[in-house]
Amino acid sequence: MRYFYELIRKKIGYSREGRIVLSKEYKKYVRTPALLVPIKNILMAQLNFLEFFEDHELFLITKEVFLKISFLREKFKNKTFIYTHEGTLDKYREILTQNIEIFSKDNIITSIPFNIPNTFINKEFAKDEIKDYLKKAEVILENYPNLDFCLSIRIFEYPEFLKLYIPLINSKENIRILNLMDVFDVVSNYRKIVKLILQIKQELNNNLVLIASGRIIPKFYPILVYLGIDLIDCSYLLYLSAENFYDTIEYLLPIYKVKYLPCNCYACRGKLKELLKSKYSNEKIEQLVLHNLISAKSYMNKIKQYLKGEDFRAFVEKSSFDDINIISLLKILDKDNFKAIRFETPLTQKNLKIQCFGPSSYYRPDFQEFRERLVHNFEPEPWTKLIILLPCSAKKPYSESKSHKLFHNIIRKFPDFPDFQEIIVTSPLGAIPRQLENIYPVNCYDISVTGDWNEEEIDIAANMLIEIIKKYDVNIPIICHFEEDGYRKIINKVIPNVKNDIMFTYVDEDLTSSKSLDSLKNLIENYKDHITPKEVFPKNKDFLKSWHRKIVKVIDYQFGKSYGMKFAKNGITMKRTRNDTSLEIYEQSTNRFLGRFLKDTGQIELSLNGANIIYQFDNFSNTLIFDGDKISGNTLFRPGIIDYSLDLIPNNYAFVLNKSRKKILAVVKMLVGSNYIKNTQSGKIAEIYEKLE
Ligand SMILES: [Zn+2]
Repeated sequence: MRYFYELIRKKIGYSREGRIVLSKEYKKYVRTPALLVPIKNILMAQLNFLEFFEDHELFLITKEVFLKISFLREKFKNKTFIYTHEGTLDKYREILTQNIEIFSKDNIITSIPFNIPNTFINKEFAKDEIKDYLKKAEVILENYPNLDFCLSIRIFEYPEFLKLYIPLINSKENIRILNLMDVFDVVSNYRKIVKLILQIKQELNNNLVLIASGRIIPKFYPILVYLGIDLIDCSYLLYLSAENFYDTIEYLLPIYKVKYLPCNCYACRGKLKELLKSKYSNEKIEQLVLHNLISAKSYMNKIKQYLKGEDFRAFVEKSSFDDINIISLLKILDKDNFKAIRFETPLTQKNLKIQCFGPSSYYRPDFQEFRERLVHNFEPEPWTKLIILLPCSAKKPYSESKSHKLFHNIIRKFPDFPDFQEIIVTSPLGAIPRQLENIYPVNCYDISVTGDWNEEEIDIAANMLIEIIKKYDVNIPIICHFEEDGYRKIINKVIPNVKNDIMFTYVDEDLTSSKSLDSLKNLIENYKDHITPKEVFPKNKDFLKSWHRKIVKVIDYQFGKSYGMKFAKNGITMKRTRNDTSLEIYEQSTNRFLGRFLKDTGQIELSLNGANIIYQFDNFSNTLIFDGDKISGNTLFRPGIIDYSLDLIPNNYAFVLNKSRKKILAVVKMLVGSNYIKNTQSGKIAEIYEKLE
């Protein structure tokens, strides 16, 4: 199978960085996401256009005149083109046959056009149109099996029509790109849009490149990329320019209203500025086209930059604030489709500050994954005899903050402090057992704290607290060291749902005043011996060390309940690395290297030894089955995988077993999730960081 699309990195939601491979031999690639810029005569005549788009890689052409060798192979030989035809399919077939030599070259891909003469058609008629299109497209695809094609998809506002296309797409390997021509035309149909994208990602090859075209303005680019769109066709801007609109990203302004040009492009610096006061003219429209395309391109560059190196989700949220439909779309995706999106979203991000803007951030998929994973995988330490609830701090990890250091001065004076379970209550993440304070996103989220909690934040924290407390003996007392009213409201919601006694410390001025801390000390003193825990002390006293407790819980968080205790059962020792970016973990009795705790993500990268200690071979989770007994190279590719568990998530760690499932061949960091593996036959799956030699 020839390569076409290669995934480079999965990002939050359906967003991804990748490349279209046009020729491996000549290393010819187009990086995605990218803007698909139309080439029209009106633009070709402008030197400024050619100058500005000199570095641009991908263009859309619709006129036969551009199919000439002199254009494609000489003038623009380093560019890539998608060609489509604006007329009938019959005419397109003719053009294809006449220019087959051109289309066999590696810098042009052709798109089978789906044009309809009239805009208003009823559902039955639309269905017939699609069937007719598919019949004709099938013939073309069969006639040219060695040519890569883009298939046009129109749904006429009926997402259920996608299923008409699915059999053809799944049966023809030379369909490499899908052009979603009218899916995003009516953004208020966000439910339909989400439904359609999910269907595409769950039922079709995930290595298909997706184009969004139609009535798309730059404001929607971030959410489109978040939805997994690889190429955005900006042709609609030509139409808007002709209608005298000036795009500022936030708004489309009629040019007559524009007094201050908020842009510094060729057009805005030059002729457009001069023409602002004059009447409509062709020249003015040409300048508008130029500005609109340049600003779209600049915006796309920003998106690409943020997708690569920043917290892209925050950018998507910010860009949604002035559009109700985008906010709703994001909400539907977060809340109703978490089950799908969790397998697309990397478990961790490195070295980023994650800004929470309020309600739009609460259910980010990485936050929700954190909550569900924690609630599902967290197990109480059996020796716990007291629970202490504390507020969060701005500084992360919490225990390095001034306030938490003061709390610890009190709590850790008790020699039996490892028997206390500290839980930090915070918005919007919820409730975090102290042992998990170093993991992503707990180690890097940021939210403006004013003390006012809204209902949603209160519910998130209360529900999570209830789930965690319910895992404990009902006789274990709970001490709350809280000041703000919001925390009170949370606890008021918790009280009717748990049986444990809940006490509040007396707070004088603030939580760290000597009177407040005294009150904390007294309550601990009074309640710490109310119950005798099931296990007073683990036999191995190391379990009581703070880092030891953390490692056990992080392993549980990553791989599942009770793995952590298994991992540490022979005792572990930790060593700081010289650059202080990680902690090396060794087995105490044998001094074998078991893995590494990485400070930036708060995750543990298990060594093969570590993996062999914890992995239960009858438990099919976090696992890939390799077709063979030896893996070569440092990358795991899709074709070598014969089976896989359904819980794989990008950036989590996993085990690669041999065909008989008796041996761990390698430990890997996932690049993709289970759904991608299910829906692809090629591409990189995981990075191997240790393997059997
Ligand atoms: Zn401009």
